[in-house]
Amino acid sequence: MGEETKEFTCSNCMFSVKYNYFGTKPPFAKAVVLMEEAYVMKDPFSTDFGLIVIGSNCSLCLNPVCGSQSCSVFYTKRFCLACAANKLEEFPSQIQQEVSKNLQQTPS
Ligand SMILES: [Zn+2]
Ligand SMILES: [Zn+2]
Repeated sequence: MGEETKEFTCSNCMFSVKYNYFGTKPPFAKAVVLMEEAYVMKDPFSTDFGLIVIGSNCSLCLNPVCGSQSCSVFYTKRFCLACAANKLEEFPSQIQQEVSKNLQQTPS
């Protein structure tokens, strides 16, 4: 197909991978509309959805972050853990607990 592949690098864990598409409606998975603009790669092993969501951009600092719980949290929008920590009191308590739990696991 000659599609260009771009590279995603998580700004937190430095996880790096090639991705095929950034946005909410991947052209290769027509039934799928994502909740957020996300970095997506085609899943070579799947026949159903055929895609893997790698990560997204933090809605505050705009840095790319992967979907790992230790890197980002999704609450109406995507937040990197650092921004989530700064705004912690604005999140519901369930998210607060999740964020602080994950922050403790991350060596700084
Ligand atoms: Zn990450
Ligand atoms: Zn951020």
